[in-house]
Amino acid sequence: ARLNNIFQFIDVGRQDPAKKDITVRRHQFVEIYQPFSQNAVEGQAHRCLECGNPYCEWKCPVHNFIPNWLKLISEGNIFEAAELSHQTNSLPEVCGRVCPQDRLCEGACTLNDGFGAVTIGNAEKYITDTAFAMGWRPDMSKVVWTDKKVAIIGAGPAGIGCADVLVRSGVRPVVFDRYPEIGGLLTFGIPEFKLEKSVLSRRREIFTEMGVEFRLNTEVGKDITMEELLRDYDAVFMGMGTYNYMKGGFPGEDLPGVHDALPFLISNVNRNLGFEKNPADFVGVNGKRVVVLGGGDTAMDCNRTSIRQGAASVSCAYRRDEENMPGSRREVANAKEEGVNFLFNRQPIAIVGDGKVEGVKVVTTRLGAPDEKGRRRPEEVEGSEEILPADVVLIAFGFRPSPPDWLKDHHIALNDWQGVIAPEHQLYKFQTSNPKVFAGGDMVRGSDLVVTAIWEGREAASGILDYLGV
Ligand code: FAD
Ligand code: SF4
Repeated sequence: ARLNNIFQFIDVGRQDPAKKDITVRRHQFVEIYQPFSQNAVEGQAHRCLECGNPYCEWKCPVHNFIPNWLKLISEGNIFEAAELSHQTNSLPEVCGRVCPQDRLCEGACTLNDGFGAVTIGNAEKYITDTAFAMGWRPDMSKVVWTDKKVAIIGAGPAGIGCADVLVRSGVRPVVFDRYPEIGGLLTFGIPEFKLEKSVLSRRREIFTEMGVEFRLNTEVGKDITMEELLRDYDAVFMGMGTYNYMKGGFPGEDLPGVHDALPFLISNVNRNLGFEKNPADFVGVNGKRVVVLGGGDTAMDCNRTSIRQGAASVSCAYRRDEENMPGSRREVANAKEEGVNFLFNRQPIAIVGDGKVEGVKVVTTRLGAPDEKGRRRPEEVEGSEEILPADVVLIAFGFRPSPPDWLKDHHIALNDWQGVIAPEHQLYKFQTSNPKVFAGGDMVRGSDLVVTAIWEGREAASGILDYLGV
């Protein structure tokens, strides 16, 4: 049947799922995309050319078997597609929602050259969402349980990826997280309009059924010590993320009304999910003029959260041009549609105000010579200073590692930018300088992506299995 459809990519164009109406979407903390219909997803699956050497698979950090599961979808074989998709990815429905596909799988699709890439991300999300709704669960019937158990610190994508591979190999993972729900930044960072939180609570239930134990509201170093973990478990995996906020280093950053991006986003999630402990922690921007500084995913999430909270205006100042923005293009386009005013080539030099923030002083930039990473460096245009009026400023300049002090008590070495040293290419993958401790995700590679954290957690699990001789 597929051979008859070999030219489907000409007859059927790329199709993205419909977005909810803008008037609704600007006010609600719900995912903006409607689910793909069965017809639409099958139409996309039929467009796949089944390239002999699928670039999409290479470009996907977890190397999903993309053409194979697209074929299973086109044959209506959802359960087999789900089983196959879980062989390489621990959270396929999450990656389908939040990966920057235009830079990864879909960017590498052969059809991206003129015809429009197959909508791979949405197909991946469709497979798992549909299979779960139909009652599919990961097949654990062939697992042979060992007597080994591993402590995992952090229930973010790295920790979950590690737990998934271990439990499927018969090793008991016990996952500790200081937060009241699993997911790390998937729950307490990425807003609901990209990823609804029921996706993570459903995952918690499924992983628990599979044999993963979660000990939430438990901070390692405070509620339980690393000594206890090292004593009671056969190995420890750390996937604790990066939580030091980067500063601009200009005057006025301490003025009331200036906030770091993550506390703003977390306070919003906590209120929406009913986890708020103290109403004073909530950073509300209703009726206020908001200026967001930065151009990555975090900045986009601040922009769009502010719109939904009912800000009077939301402007986003970024020091390079639109071409050079690090955030996903899809999310920049969504932010524009929702009413965010982008100010490109604007470098903040001060936050101004008398006792509270009143504005951001910026200069216009133009792109100069490339820096050591090949990105063109922004240069100031003389005499271009202006003040952007603001009641609230949200700073989204990124994150630096935040390794806890107790790492040194356990001989876990850090590199010169405070990342944990856990190399991929060595006898036991992602092992730290303490042989019993492994690490992965943002705390090793610096803040990056959900899918790369999942991949490192999974690879570290294979390092742990080798180390334990399982
Ligand atoms: P985290 O997700 O940070 O998880 C670490 C976990 O460890 C947390 O739950 C934390 O509570 C726990 N922890 C830390 N210390 C302790 C301790 N001592 N005891 C117990 N628990 C502890 N990536 C994308 O691919 N697409 C996106 O659209 C995207 N949007 C983003 C938006 C925002 C606002 C942010 C901040 C990031 C975004 N990212 C996105 C990046 C992505 O979320 C991260 O790269 C990814 O979550 C890193 O996974 P991780 O498991 O290493 O760490
Ligand atoms: Fe694409 Fe991400 Fe899915 Fe890989 S995990 S196929 S990069 S959406």
